[in-house]
Amino acid sequence: MSSKRESSMSICDGFVGAIGNTPLIRLPRLSEETGCEILGKAEFMNPGGSVKDRAALAIVQAAERSGELRPGGTVVEGTAGNTGIGLAHICNARGYRCVIVIPETQSQEKIDLLRTLGAEVHAVPAAPYRDPGNYQKVAGRMAAEMDNAVWANQFDNTANRLGHYRTTGPEVWAQTGGRVDAFVAATGTGGTLAGVSRALKERSPDTRIYLADPSGSALYNFVRDGEPAPTAGNSITEGIGSSRVTANLQGTDIDDAFCISDAESVPMVYRLLREEGLFLGSSSGVNVCGAVRAAEELGPGHTVVTILCDGGGRYYSRLFNEAWLAERGLA
Ligand code: PMP
Repeated sequence: MSSKRESSMSICDGFVGAIGNTPLIRLPRLSEETGCEILGKAEFMNPGGSVKDRAALAIVQAAERSGELRPGGTVVEGTAGNTGIGLAHICNARGYRCVIVIPETQSQEKIDLLRTLGAEVHAVPAAPYRDPGNYQKVAGRMAAEMDNAVWANQFDNTANRLGHYRTTGPEVWAQTGGRVDAFVAATGTGGTLAGVSRALKERSPDTRIYLADPSGSALYNFVRDGEPAPTAGNSITEGIGSSRVTANLQGTDIDDAFCISDAESVPMVYRLLREEGLFLGSSSGVNVCGAVRAAEELGPGHTVVTILCDGGGRYYSRLFNEAWLAERGLA
Protein backbone atom coordinates (compact mmCIF):
# COMPACT_ATOMS: atom_id res chain seq x y z
CA MET A 1 0.00 0.00 0.00
CA SER A 2 1.34 3.45 -0.86
CA SER A 3 2.26 5.78 1.99
CA LYS A 4 -0.23 8.34 0.61
CA ARG A 5 -3.10 5.94 1.20
CA GLU A 6 -1.78 5.21 4.66
CA SER A 7 -1.46 8.89 5.45
CA SER A 8 -4.79 9.81 3.88
CA MET A 9 -6.47 7.41 6.29
CA SER A 10 -5.00 9.26 9.24
CA ILE A 11 -5.27 12.94 10.15
CA CYS A 12 -2.70 15.43 8.82
CA ASP A 13 -1.89 18.43 10.97
CA GLY A 14 -2.91 21.45 8.89
CA PHE A 15 -1.69 22.41 5.43
CA VAL A 16 1.94 21.57 6.14
CA GLY A 17 1.04 18.18 7.56
CA ALA A 18 -0.43 17.25 4.18
CA ILE A 19 2.83 17.96 2.29
CA GLY A 20 4.74 14.90 1.07
CA ASN A 21 3.98 11.18 1.22
CA THR A 22 2.73 11.39 -2.37
CA PRO A 23 1.84 8.26 -4.33
CA LEU A 24 4.32 6.69 -6.74
CA ILE A 25 2.31 6.06 -9.89
CA ARG A 26 3.21 3.33 -12.39
CA LEU A 27 2.69 4.53 -15.97
CA PRO A 28 1.25 1.37 -17.60
CA ARG A 29 1.53 2.30 -21.29
CA LEU A 30 5.07 3.60 -21.11
CA SER A 31 6.12 0.71 -18.89
CA GLU A 32 4.73 -1.77 -21.40
CA GLU A 33 6.42 0.01 -24.30
CA THR A 34 9.86 0.17 -22.69
CA GLY A 35 9.78 -3.13 -20.78
CA CYS A 36 10.80 -1.16 -17.68
CA GLU A 37 8.78 0.00 -14.71
CA ILE A 38 8.28 3.72 -15.35
CA LEU A 39 7.17 5.30 -12.07
CA GLY A 40 6.17 8.92 -11.47
CA LYS A 41 6.16 10.51 -8.03
CA ALA A 42 2.83 12.34 -7.90
CA GLU A 43 4.07 15.67 -6.59
CA PHE A 44 1.10 17.43 -8.18
CA MET A 45 -0.89 15.87 -5.31
CA ASN A 46 0.81 18.02 -2.69
CA PRO A 47 -1.74 20.40 -1.10
CA GLY A 48 -0.27 23.44 -2.89
CA GLY A 49 -0.25 21.49 -6.16
CA SER A 50 3.45 20.99 -6.83
CA VAL A 51 6.78 19.49 -5.82
CA LYS A 52 7.76 22.94 -4.56
CA ASP A 53 5.58 22.66 -1.43
CA ARG A 54 8.37 20.50 -0.02
CA ALA A 55 11.10 23.07 -0.66
CA ALA A 56 8.92 25.92 0.63
CA LEU A 57 8.25 24.05 3.86
CA ALA A 58 11.88 23.04 4.36
CA ILE A 59 13.01 26.65 3.85
CA VAL A 60 10.39 28.13 6.21
CA GLN A 61 11.15 25.54 8.90
CA ALA A 62 14.90 26.19 8.64
CA ALA A 63 14.33 29.97 8.96
CA GLU A 64 12.07 29.40 11.99
CA ARG A 65 14.63 27.12 13.62
CA SER A 66 17.48 29.59 13.05
CA GLY A 67 15.38 32.41 14.56
CA GLU A 68 15.66 34.42 11.33
CA LEU A 69 11.89 34.17 10.79
CA ARG A 70 9.86 35.30 13.77
CA PRO A 71 6.09 35.46 14.41
CA GLY A 72 4.38 37.99 12.16
CA GLY A 73 7.40 38.08 9.82
CA THR A 74 7.55 38.25 6.04
CA VAL A 75 8.82 35.66 3.56
CA VAL A 76 10.13 37.16 0.31
CA GLU A 77 10.96 35.07 -2.74
CA GLY A 78 11.80 35.31 -6.40
CA THR A 79 9.99 32.44 -8.06
CA ALA A 80 8.71 31.16 -11.38
CA GLY A 81 5.48 30.40 -9.52
CA ASN A 82 5.26 27.07 -7.79
CA THR A 83 7.58 27.87 -4.88
CA GLY A 84 5.66 31.10 -4.40
CA ILE A 85 2.36 29.22 -4.37
CA GLY A 86 3.71 26.79 -1.75
CA LEU A 87 5.13 29.67 0.31
CA ALA A 88 1.88 31.67 0.08
CA HIS A 89 -0.12 28.72 1.44
CA ILE A 90 2.40 28.07 4.23
CA CYS A 91 2.53 31.77 5.13
CA ASN A 92 -1.28 31.84 5.41
CA ALA A 93 -1.22 28.73 7.58
CA ARG A 94 1.58 30.07 9.80
CA GLY A 95 0.61 33.77 10.00
CA TYR A 96 3.41 35.26 7.87
CA ARG A 97 3.21 37.86 5.12
CA CYS A 98 4.32 36.65 1.70
CA VAL A 99 5.97 38.82 -0.98
CA ILE A 100 6.66 37.27 -4.39
CA VAL A 101 8.78 38.60 -7.26
CA ILE A 102 7.97 36.77 -10.50
CA PRO A 103 9.20 37.23 -14.10
CA GLU A 104 6.42 38.59 -16.35
CA THR A 105 7.01 35.67 -18.73
CA GLN A 106 5.38 33.18 -16.35
CA SER A 107 1.82 31.99 -16.91
CA GLN A 108 -0.98 34.34 -15.87
CA GLU A 109 -2.66 31.43 -14.04
CA LYS A 110 0.21 31.24 -11.56
CA ILE A 111 0.26 35.01 -11.02
CA ASP A 112 -3.53 35.07 -10.48
CA LEU A 113 -3.34 32.20 -8.03
CA LEU A 114 -0.57 33.90 -6.02
CA ARG A 115 -2.72 37.03 -5.71
CA THR A 116 -5.77 34.96 -4.72
CA LEU A 117 -3.68 33.35 -1.99
CA GLY A 118 -2.97 36.81 -0.60
CA ALA A 119 0.66 37.13 -1.67
CA GLU A 120 1.93 40.58 -2.60
CA VAL A 121 3.06 39.94 -6.19
CA HIS A 122 5.64 42.01 -8.06
CA ALA A 123 5.87 40.97 -11.74
CA VAL A 124 9.19 42.17 -13.18
CA PRO A 125 10.61 42.05 -16.72
CA ALA A 126 12.57 38.86 -17.37
CA ALA A 127 16.31 39.55 -17.01
CA PRO A 128 19.34 37.25 -16.95
CA TYR A 129 20.86 36.22 -13.62
CA ARG A 130 23.84 38.57 -14.02
CA ASP A 131 21.45 41.57 -14.33
CA PRO A 132 20.57 43.40 -11.05
CA GLY A 133 16.94 43.47 -12.29
CA ASN A 134 16.77 39.65 -12.26
CA TYR A 135 13.78 38.53 -10.18
CA GLN A 136 15.92 36.60 -7.68
CA LYS A 137 18.18 39.60 -7.07
CA VAL A 138 15.16 41.93 -6.70
CA ALA A 139 13.70 39.58 -4.07
CA GLY A 140 16.98 39.51 -2.14
CA ARG A 141 17.18 43.30 -2.06
CA MET A 142 13.52 43.67 -1.01
CA ALA A 143 13.98 41.26 1.92
CA ALA A 144 17.15 43.07 3.05
CA GLU A 145 15.23 46.36 3.19
CA MET A 146 12.31 45.02 5.30
CA ASP A 147 12.08 44.41 9.04
CA ASN A 148 11.59 40.84 10.25
CA ALA A 149 11.79 39.46 6.71
CA VAL A 150 13.64 36.51 5.20
CA TRP A 151 14.62 35.86 1.61
CA ALA A 152 13.74 32.23 0.91
CA ASN A 153 16.49 32.10 -1.77
CA GLN A 154 15.39 28.67 -3.03
CA PHE A 155 18.21 28.46 -5.60
CA ASP A 156 21.11 28.76 -3.18
CA ASN A 157 19.53 27.99 0.19
CA THR A 158 20.44 24.34 0.71
CA ALA A 159 17.54 23.81 3.13
CA ASN A 160 15.75 23.14 -0.19
CA ARG A 161 17.76 20.04 -1.16
CA LEU A 162 17.87 18.93 2.48
CA GLY A 163 14.06 18.80 2.45
CA HIS A 164 14.14 16.41 -0.54
CA TYR A 165 16.99 14.42 1.00
CA ARG A 166 14.90 13.91 4.13
CA THR A 167 11.50 13.28 2.50
CA THR A 168 11.23 12.71 -1.27
CA GLY A 169 14.29 10.45 -1.54
CA PRO A 170 13.44 8.13 1.39
CA GLU A 171 9.81 7.94 0.17
CA VAL A 172 10.95 6.76 -3.29
CA TRP A 173 13.24 4.21 -1.65
CA ALA A 174 10.46 2.88 0.60
CA GLN A 175 7.81 2.86 -2.14
CA THR A 176 10.01 0.86 -4.53
CA GLY A 177 11.18 -1.48 -1.76
CA GLY A 178 14.72 -0.35 -2.60
CA ARG A 179 14.38 -1.44 -6.23
CA VAL A 180 15.19 1.74 -8.10
CA ASP A 181 17.72 1.48 -10.92
CA ALA A 182 17.48 5.07 -12.10
CA PHE A 183 16.12 8.43 -11.04
CA VAL A 184 15.54 11.13 -13.67
CA ALA A 185 14.58 14.77 -13.17
CA ALA A 186 14.84 18.19 -14.70
CA THR A 187 16.06 20.92 -12.41
CA GLY A 188 15.13 24.49 -11.67
CA THR A 189 16.84 25.12 -8.36
CA GLY A 190 18.32 21.61 -8.38
CA GLY A 191 16.83 20.85 -4.95
CA THR A 192 14.82 17.83 -6.06
CA LEU A 193 17.55 16.18 -8.13
CA ALA A 194 20.27 16.87 -5.54
CA GLY A 195 18.28 15.75 -2.49
CA VAL A 196 16.72 12.64 -4.02
CA SER A 197 19.92 11.49 -5.70
CA ARG A 198 21.94 11.82 -2.49
CA ALA A 199 19.33 9.85 -0.54
CA LEU A 200 19.24 7.10 -3.19
CA LYS A 201 23.01 6.88 -3.79
CA GLU A 202 23.61 6.59 -0.04
CA ARG A 203 21.30 3.57 0.04
CA SER A 204 22.45 2.09 -3.27
CA PRO A 205 25.50 3.66 -4.96
CA ASP A 206 24.65 1.90 -8.25
CA THR A 207 21.44 3.92 -8.71
CA ARG A 208 21.84 5.86 -11.96
CA ILE A 209 21.00 9.57 -11.72
CA TYR A 210 20.04 11.38 -14.92
CA LEU A 211 19.36 15.05 -15.53
CA ALA A 212 16.59 15.76 -18.07
CA ASP A 213 17.38 19.25 -19.35
CA PRO A 214 15.14 21.34 -21.63
CA SER A 215 16.78 22.76 -24.74
CA GLY A 216 18.49 26.10 -24.19
CA SER A 217 19.47 25.24 -20.60
CA ALA A 218 23.17 25.18 -19.71
CA LEU A 219 23.14 22.12 -17.45
CA TYR A 220 23.23 19.37 -20.08
CA ASN A 221 26.68 20.63 -21.11
CA PHE A 222 27.65 20.99 -17.45
CA VAL A 223 26.94 17.30 -16.79
CA ARG A 224 28.55 16.19 -20.06
CA ASP A 225 31.64 18.45 -20.09
CA GLY A 226 31.88 20.09 -16.66
CA GLU A 227 31.08 23.58 -18.02
CA PRO A 228 27.59 25.13 -18.01
CA ALA A 229 26.84 26.25 -21.61
CA PRO A 230 23.45 26.67 -23.29
CA THR A 231 22.38 24.09 -25.86
CA ALA A 232 20.74 25.21 -29.11
CA GLY A 233 17.16 26.52 -29.02
CA ASN A 234 14.91 27.53 -26.19
CA SER A 235 11.94 26.00 -24.42
CA ILE A 236 8.34 26.76 -23.48
CA THR A 237 8.73 24.76 -20.27
CA GLU A 238 8.38 26.67 -17.01
CA GLY A 239 10.29 26.25 -13.77
CA ILE A 240 13.15 24.19 -15.20
CA GLY A 241 16.43 24.75 -17.00
CA SER A 242 19.21 26.97 -15.73
CA SER A 243 22.08 29.13 -16.88
CA ARG A 244 24.15 28.37 -13.79
CA VAL A 245 24.99 25.69 -11.24
CA THR A 246 23.13 26.67 -8.07
CA ALA A 247 24.38 25.94 -4.56
CA ASN A 248 21.64 23.29 -4.34
CA LEU A 249 22.93 21.49 -7.43
CA GLN A 250 26.63 21.81 -6.60
CA GLY A 251 28.34 18.53 -5.73
CA THR A 252 25.46 16.37 -6.99
CA ASP A 253 26.59 13.02 -8.38
CA ILE A 254 24.86 12.97 -11.79
CA ASP A 255 25.73 10.06 -14.09
CA ASP A 256 24.45 11.45 -17.36
CA ALA A 257 22.10 13.99 -18.95
CA PHE A 258 19.50 14.10 -21.72
CA CYS A 259 18.61 17.24 -23.66
CA ILE A 260 14.84 17.22 -24.24
CA SER A 261 13.31 19.50 -26.88
CA ASP A 262 9.78 20.91 -26.74
CA ALA A 263 9.03 18.87 -29.88
CA GLU A 264 9.62 15.79 -27.69
CA SER A 265 8.19 16.92 -24.35
CA VAL A 266 4.96 18.64 -25.48
CA PRO A 267 3.60 15.51 -27.26
CA MET A 268 4.54 13.55 -24.13
CA VAL A 269 2.38 15.85 -21.98
CA TYR A 270 -0.55 15.04 -24.30
CA ARG A 271 0.25 11.29 -24.23
CA LEU A 272 0.26 11.39 -20.44
CA LEU A 273 -3.13 13.09 -20.57
CA ARG A 274 -4.79 10.84 -23.16
CA GLU A 275 -3.09 7.50 -22.56
CA GLU A 276 -2.10 7.53 -18.90
CA GLY A 277 -4.95 9.70 -17.58
CA LEU A 278 -2.63 12.28 -16.01
CA PHE A 279 -3.13 16.05 -16.56
CA LEU A 280 0.33 17.51 -15.96
CA GLY A 281 2.53 20.52 -16.64
CA SER A 282 5.41 20.82 -19.08
CA SER A 283 8.24 19.88 -16.72
CA SER A 284 6.54 16.52 -16.10
CA GLY A 285 6.65 15.97 -19.88
CA VAL A 286 10.40 16.60 -19.88
CA ASN A 287 10.86 14.30 -16.89
CA VAL A 288 8.88 11.42 -18.39
CA CYS A 289 10.74 11.80 -21.73
CA GLY A 290 13.95 11.53 -19.69
CA ALA A 291 12.64 8.44 -17.90
CA VAL A 292 11.85 6.77 -21.23
CA ARG A 293 15.33 7.61 -22.54
CA ALA A 294 16.88 6.16 -19.37
CA ALA A 295 14.76 3.01 -19.80
CA GLU A 296 15.95 2.68 -23.40
CA GLU A 297 19.56 3.11 -22.29
CA LEU A 298 19.30 0.58 -19.44
CA GLY A 299 17.19 -1.95 -21.34
CA PRO A 300 14.11 -3.94 -20.21
CA GLY A 301 13.63 -5.08 -16.65
CA HIS A 302 14.73 -1.92 -14.86
CA THR A 303 12.82 0.45 -12.59
CA VAL A 304 13.03 4.13 -13.49
CA VAL A 305 11.57 6.81 -11.21
CA THR A 306 10.80 10.40 -12.13
CA ILE A 307 8.83 13.37 -10.80
CA LEU A 308 5.35 14.48 -11.89
CA CYS A 309 5.94 18.05 -10.75
CA ASP A 310 2.64 19.89 -11.11
CA GLY A 311 -0.80 19.68 -12.71
CA GLY A 312 -1.85 20.94 -16.14
CA GLY A 313 -4.40 23.39 -14.72
CA ARG A 314 -1.62 25.98 -14.28
CA TYR A 315 -1.02 26.06 -18.04
CA TYR A 316 -4.40 26.46 -19.81
CA SER A 317 -3.34 29.66 -21.54
CA ARG A 318 -0.17 28.11 -23.00
CA LEU A 319 0.56 24.40 -23.05
CA PHE A 320 -3.15 23.56 -23.37
CA ASN A 321 -3.96 26.39 -25.77
CA GLU A 322 -3.76 25.13 -29.38
CA ALA A 323 -3.35 28.59 -30.92
CA TRP A 324 -0.49 29.43 -28.55
CA LEU A 325 1.23 26.14 -29.39
CA ALA A 326 0.62 26.61 -33.13
CA GLU A 327 2.36 30.01 -33.03
CA ARG A 328 5.42 28.17 -31.75
CA GLY A 329 5.21 25.30 -34.23
CA LEU A 330 4.20 22.86 -31.50
CA ALA A 331 0.50 22.20 -32.16
N1 PMP B 1 8.85 21.61 -12.33
C1 PMP B 1 8.19 22.72 -11.98
C2 PMP B 1 6.84 22.95 -12.55
C3 PMP B 1 8.78 23.64 -11.10
O1 PMP B 1 8.11 24.76 -10.76
C4 PMP B 1 10.07 23.39 -10.60
C5 PMP B 1 10.73 24.37 -9.67
N2 PMP B 1 11.02 25.62 -10.22
C6 PMP B 1 10.74 22.22 -11.00
C7 PMP B 1 10.09 21.35 -11.85
C8 PMP B 1 12.15 21.92 -10.58
O2 PMP B 1 12.33 21.60 -9.24
P1 PMP B 1 13.65 22.00 -8.46
O3 PMP B 1 13.58 23.48 -8.19
O4 PMP B 1 13.62 21.20 -7.21
O5 PMP B 1 14.84 21.69 -9.32
